[in-house]
Amino acid sequence: MDLMEYQAKELFAKHGVPGTLGVVAHTPAEARAAAEKLGVVVVKAQVKAGGRGKAGGVKLAKTPDEAEQHAEAILGMDIKGHTVHRVLVAPGASIEEEYYFSFLLDRANRNYLCIASVEGGVEIEEVAKTNPDAVKKIAIDPGTGVDEAKARAIVAEAKFPEALVDQAVQTVLALWKVFVEEDATLVEVNPLARLTGDKLEALDGKVSLDANADFRHPDHEQFELGDETDPLEAAAKEKNLNYVKLDGQVGIIGNGAGLVMSTLDVVAYAGEKHGGVKPANFLDIGGGANAQVMADGLHIILGDEQVKSVFVNVFGGITACDQVANGIKGALEILGDEATKPLVVRLDGNNVEAGRQILQDLAHPLVTMVDTMDGAADKAAELANA
Ligand code: GDP
Ligand code: MN
Repeated sequence: MDLMEYQAKELFAKHGVPGTLGVVAHTPAEARAAAEKLGVVVVKAQVKAGGRGKAGGVKLAKTPDEAEQHAEAILGMDIKGHTVHRVLVAPGASIEEEYYFSFLLDRANRNYLCIASVEGGVEIEEVAKTNPDAVKKIAIDPGTGVDEAKARAIVAEAKFPEALVDQAVQTVLALWKVFVEEDATLVEVNPLARLTGDKLEALDGKVSLDANADFRHPDHEQFELGDETDPLEAAAKEKNLNYVKLDGQVGIIGNGAGLVMSTLDVVAYAGEKHGGVKPANFLDIGGGANAQVMADGLHIILGDEQVKSVFVNVFGGITACDQVANGIKGALEILGDEATKPLVVRLDGNNVEAGRQILQDLAHPLVTMVDTMDGAADKAAELANA
């Protein structure tokens, strides 16, 4: 689970990372009230997306009036597809320099990694491209982790200014505690700022928590925000379907995560020849592809306005192809007029002939059968682009 900045900062505070919490506001009036207490503030959009500053979602306010106006403008704003439902009103810090710091899981090297740069701030991606030497990558042995000596080595390698070394070491140790004790896969601070008076503070925070460790963090449940969940994802969860919304036009239903993932790849590949259409989602209906499960899956996918065609890719196993075909047939009956988008179906595996026969006999105007996965992906992409 990815946390919002204000949630990340709560975990920072718990483990002693220097910074201020601020006040979360849902309305311009709440933002004004917070600013009346805090003085000069920054009003910051709370969404699970980076680049809020560049998108106009972070604004300095010198007066309560200004804080109210900024909140008015930022609340409801769309940042990279995320609607802003709340803003953080934080004390306005006076920044001298901005640094970047993170701990993350380095899957490729089966290791942890620290990334640190004294050239942080909103241009960090640009710095990483144009001046990669300024962005230090330091491997962390998971067996030994980060002790004070390692923290000093990191701070030295990143070249934190002399006046800040001790604060930086303490901050690195505190961030490491957040990373390990909260079971995070990412802890990022950008900017870690040098404020006037040589004070080091985390002015932004990004934390991703490892859901596999949820069982030992009952307190993490508080971070789940109902109003931020995609309604289709919520509906899928309720039906026990494994669904992830993506950004493209071809809806995908398959049985088994491996098959669905390779289907995403073939659709993306086929889409290159058809106007660049892409997969619209990931939907794994698992083993029991009966009519109700198929109808639930199709209902969710058809509910996504971006979807222009649907690719049903099923490999019959314990649930044989004829059962799946009957599932599709039943689903189309259950959905009735709701089914309006073309379906491309590819069946293979156990009882494939019987399954194909059922769909042939059905002769539904929306259903096209294609025998191969590549061919079906191509057809689905073509229909999505029509
Ligand atoms: P992001 O763009 O989503 O990463 O949001 P940030 O929280 O990092 O804010 C973007 C930029 O706004 C930072 O790099 C700072 O330059 C600036 N900023 C954020 N908080 C403050 C603050 O308290 N005071 C001042 N003066 N600037 C801030
Ligand atoms: Mn930032």
